[in-house]
Amino acid sequence: MSDSYEEGPTPTERLYAIVEQGLCIGCGLCQSVAGKDCVRVTKTSNGYLTPLVEGELDHETVDRIYAVCPGTRVEGLPERLVEPDTHRDNVWGPWRRMARAWAGDPGVRFEGSTGGVLTALGNYLLKSNRVEFILHVKTSASEPSFGDRTLSFTEVEVIEAAGSRYGPAAPLIDIDEVLGRDQPFAFIGKPCDISALRNYAKQDERVDKLVKYWLTLVCGGYGTPQGTIEFFKRMGFNPDDVTGLRYRGRGCPGPTRVETADKVEEFHYIDYWGEDETTWTLPFRCKICPDAIGEAADIAAADTWIGGSPTREGSEDDPGTNAIIARTATGEELVAAAAADGALEIEYDIVPDIVSTYQPHQVNKKYAAWARHQGLADAGRIVPQIERLRIEELSRELVESTIEYQREGTRKRVEIGKASEPTPAIWKPSSTC
Ligand SMILES: Cc1cc2nc3c(=O)[nH]c(=O)nc-3n(C[C@H](O)[C@H](O)[C@H](O)COP(=O)(O)OP(=O)(O)OC[C@H]3O[C@@H](n4cnc5c(N)ncnc54)[C@H](O)[C@@H]3O)c2cc1C
Ligand code: SF4
Ligand code: SF4
Repeated sequence: MSDSYEEGPTPTERLYAIVEQGLCIGCGLCQSVAGKDCVRVTKTSNGYLTPLVEGELDHETVDRIYAVCPGTRVEGLPERLVEPDTHRDNVWGPWRRMARAWAGDPGVRFEGSTGGVLTALGNYLLKSNRVEFILHVKTSASEPSFGDRTLSFTEVEVIEAAGSRYGPAAPLIDIDEVLGRDQPFAFIGKPCDISALRNYAKQDERVDKLVKYWLTLVCGGYGTPQGTIEFFKRMGFNPDDVTGLRYRGRGCPGPTRVETADKVEEFHYIDYWGEDETTWTLPFRCKICPDAIGEAADIAAADTWIGGSPTREGSEDDPGTNAIIARTATGEELVAAAAADGALEIEYDIVPDIVSTYQPHQVNKKYAAWARHQGLADAGRIVPQIERLRIEELSRELVESTIEYQREGTRKRVEIGKASEPTPAIWKPSSTC
């Protein structure tokens, strides 16, 4: 142990500070870094997936976790992947091609969350033998509202995992073992999962050798466990009776389908999320997210609803259209090859200002992120280390009063406990959530 730690918090306290300060998104990576006998990422007392220390944790391991955890470090695309002729948009980051698109196979388009682009790309990567499997997330076998990390080796398996999982999911929980397979693969995850794996690439050279394609979704944040419980209750379900939850897909957005042993009911996306951004219930980490647009991925896929949310009437027969952002030469080549093969249907090319009309909440969040991080610093909280995401530069475009409003808002959240989570403890059905 280094001398500087002798008087300070214990290794466990340092790891738990990430959770307690609302920065853990439950990606699972710390379990891989520390080893599952030492740290287990599991459902804990607040209802989220968080680390639970079960063995001897030391400071060196916690240092390694702080260097890779997406709660403490978030970086944009590695410079070596930004070709000289890449466009650089201040809000949307590096991009080589933006387009409206959907899966060429109507069945995949239907199953997908939006237009099935990520599923279609996963299938194309397998079919063309570019990778051996896809690491991504499917409906959890044990927690109906969660996602489980899965490896898909066949197109059927990729399609089974289609659709957004809005609950907690830990795709990197056993990344050490996944890399141990020594097979090339593609990773599909949320932008924060992508950040985590990019960070980990600096500690484990197998990542850059084996992860051939990095695919992500543009992400407004995930649903809190408490918010999902409230949704079940609002819709007349006892949360303990729910055996299945499909958030969306099978149309765009498609029905939110709730199952119990004796009934199945379908609701609208708006019943779960509400009419617009102001009604979204999100974890604190999502509110200060400096990269919810997947800057470190080869390709990011998004929705195309003008204003960021669907309407009940407008979405009845919507077959789904994605906006895709190809950021790297690898991503651009994959889009072109998948389109030539018929796996993808490109409608037409677009530009950042058009994507902003689909994603006004992402534009607002990107501008606000730096001020929110300053609010964390004012409150003496952990401030995520940020590189190549332009958040300070963007905040300089704001008037001083807006920066202060955002900064003060975060300070207030910390003060009133809205940016805090309990110390992780074993989940019990009678726990808080
Ligand atoms: C938490 C969350 C928030 C989102 N917020 C926005 C938003 O603000 N704006 C927007 O445009 N789009 C948002 N989306 C993305 C949108 O819902 C679609 O996922 C995206 O448009 C891709 O559509 P698709 O039809 O290509 O996806 P599909 O073809 O259905 O493929 C989805 C892929 O994502 C993977 N996946 C699903 N859920 C998770 C998860 N929780 N963690 C890791 N991987 C997962 C699946 O394994 C699958 O491979 C969000 C998605 C999620 C999961
Ligand atoms: S965000 Fe991931 S790496 Fe960080 S503490 Fe949570 S589970 Fe661990
Ligand atoms: S908003 Fe950011 S932190 Fe939250 S789930 Fe999305 S990418 Fe992760």
